[in-house]
Amino acid sequence: MSTSFRERHVAIVGGGLVGILAVLYFAKRGWAVSLFELREDLRVQGNKKNILHRSINLALSARGLSALKNATHGLDEKVLEFAIPMKGRMIHSGEGKLKSQPYGVFGECIYSVEREILLELLLNTAAKFMNVKMYFQHQLKRCDFDIGKLEFENKKTGKQVEYSADLIIGADGAFSTVRTQIMRTVRMDYSQEYISHAYLELIVPPKVNDNGEEEFAMDPNHLHIWPLHSFMMIALPNRNKSFTCTLFMPFEKFDAIKTEDDLMEFFKKYFPDSIPLLGEDRLKKEYFRNPKGSLMSVKCKPYHYKDRAIIIGDAAHSMVPFYGQGMNCGFQDVEILDGIFEEYNISAVRNDDKLALALEEYTRRRYPDAISICDLAMYNYIEMRSSVINPWYLLRRQVEGT
Ligand code: FAD
Repeated sequence: MSTSFRERHVAIVGGGLVGILAVLYFAKRGWAVSLFELREDLRVQGNKKNILHRSINLALSARGLSALKNATHGLDEKVLEFAIPMKGRMIHSGEGKLKSQPYGVFGECIYSVEREILLELLLNTAAKFMNVKMYFQHQLKRCDFDIGKLEFENKKTGKQVEYSADLIIGADGAFSTVRTQIMRTVRMDYSQEYISHAYLELIVPPKVNDNGEEEFAMDPNHLHIWPLHSFMMIALPNRNKSFTCTLFMPFEKFDAIKTEDDLMEFFKKYFPDSIPLLGEDRLKKEYFRNPKGSLMSVKCKPYHYKDRAIIIGDAAHSMVPFYGQGMNCGFQDVEILDGIFEEYNISAVRNDDKLALALEEYTRRRYPDAISICDLAMYNYIEMRSSVINPWYLLRRQVEGT
């Protein structure tokens, strides 16, 4: 074991929400931080549409807020300035009947926040640290953890480039290359499960009131749900007074809708009250234009390799989105890792400490919770699409044969 007193270098692979939050925590600890992200910089004009590949908005909960709060002073408050509180679920019967189900008796709420705004805020905060370097359009190809070497393809130049780091953090999402590389050296248990449902996003635009002003077409302080047992649609509010609706249903159901007539017949049968909100023309255009995303759950163990590497966020535990906790759980990973670094007194300038033990402790402590959240997310799909429905409504649907 050698002792040196230079600044330690962490390479964070993946500049999604979780990776950038990790940048903030490590920068605050005084490490030299390099972030490597496959895509272009979101903050550069014209890049947004290439980067925001999925879910326009997200539900941010207490778990995620706590991690933001402890990253840098006031970050949680800054995020909340751009967020819309959702105090409960609003259950749509389909024919226009609404039922509010509050999340708590003391006004507890979750927040709808746009992915783009959150990413931009995190990136701008990271850019303020002198000890942070960010490399975009860098795709990790392989790493040699024992000598701390990372090989990237620079997507702009097409050239292979190498970097070195004391610690490598994989925050590179569900199809993580860092995870694949760890699997080559560690006996990692791994499972991946695709569910039979896909998702498609649609927009409910703002409505114009009698004074010519734009306003929300539905109550913005609820997470709206149209539960139909084997499938469902949800809607979360955006700051521009629109809603992003997400239709979750089996691939076969999507495939069965081949024409505009099929689509309108389907919506009239199952989501009639949503048609005036979505607008018939817009619905037809978006339904056939927008991509249908697949959904999967990833579980693995361990999350670390010696004192050299660790995976966090979706790279460690991708989950189906029905519990609204994927990002929140990834944020919490970072906060917990930081807490363990504190407990083990991990230094930013020495390498004679207990980093290997700290990373091992992270796997030991985090795995049971991460697995539980993955399982709860799977369970909540049934809750959201089915159990939220009142017995009387269930009965009526059965009588009507829908
Ligand atoms: P990602 O967001 O996937 O980021 C990984 C990054 O790594 C990407 O930027 C990618 O370009 C980069 N990358 C990948 N490979 C490489 C490589 N080889 N080299 C360099 N960079 C690489 N979560 C919630 O908490 N609340 C919600 O309401 C919610 N709703 C959701 C709705 C839907 C429809 C979906 C699909 C997900 C939802 N989630 C939600 C989950 C959430 O989106 C994810 O958990 C979260 O984005 C994970 O963040 P991440 O940074 O770990 O991974």
